Amino acid sequence: MHPAVLAALVCPHDGQGLQQDARSLACAAGHRFDLARQGYATLIRRPLAHSGDPAPMIERRLRVHGADLLGAVHTAVVAAARAAALPPGIVCDLGAGPGTYLAAVLDAREDRAGLAIDVSKAAARRAARCHQRAASIVADVWDGLPVATGSVALLLDVFAPRPAEELARVVAPGGTLLVVTPLPDHLAELRGPFDLLDVAEDKAASLPDRLGPAFTEVARDRVEDVVEVRASQAADLAGMGPSGHHLDVGALEAAARELPAASEVRVAVTLSRFVRREVRGGAGSLTR
Ligand SMILES: [Zn+2]
Repeated sequence: MHPAVLAALVCPHDGQGLQQDARSLACAAGHRFDLARQGYATLIRRPLAHSGDPAPMIERRLRVHGADLLGAVHTAVVAAARAAALPPGIVCDLGAGPGTYLAAVLDAREDRAGLAIDVSKAAARRAARCHQRAASIVADVWDGLPVATGSVALLLDVFAPRPAEELARVVAPGGTLLVVTPLPDHLAELRGPFDLLDVAEDKAASLPDRLGPAFTEVARDRVEDVVEVRASQAADLAGMGPSGHHLDVGALEAAARELPAASEVRVAVTLSRFVRREVRGGAGSLTR
């Protein structure tokens, strides 16, 4: 595991630092976490309540990124990451999936190492080899992040959960949080054919309230594109997101067969950029 990332990880039971030996990570109190053969560690304090995206959904994501169908989103995230003035610390990708965004950001930020966090083992397996300067863990972001307070300089949250208190804790003062949320017309052409869950509102509008006073929103940009996709790629786009959990492969394939061989699909998201406020008068309330 990259030393800078290892230094940012903590034991999920007691928050102590972790040391690595040949096959595991361990804290001074003797809590031990096996390193999987594929190179990721599972840092959890209780059995996972949910298993996250299964392998077929991760494969769909990789095909979508491989075909550059979300290239506009990628480009915007990387540009924001490159432009950010960062304090010391790692890059962390929450809900990282196969680590596609993290790898692109690490390419743009050669001064940084990165941590991919996902609850899915299939995702963690892929993310473990997404980049030389990346490490990968399985963790439940709703059960506390096994990450040291103030150790993250840049946090990526792309179509992912946002545990506000933990984000405020782990991002260093002056650090950047990039959040990508879908707009209501994201993948609009696929919503009917694939019976996708609706994006009820512009989620970005409520982010400043939800993230609380620890973060200041410094920019909010719409990222829009229209991409031409084959029917199979439409199925990949439909099945890689939250709707992928309620659509089985048969339903996706059946819906794809009804589509024309090629069609245009709208990509529409918001990229919000937040900066972690400097802590005034002691950090007591923010330490864990
Ligand atoms: Zn421990």
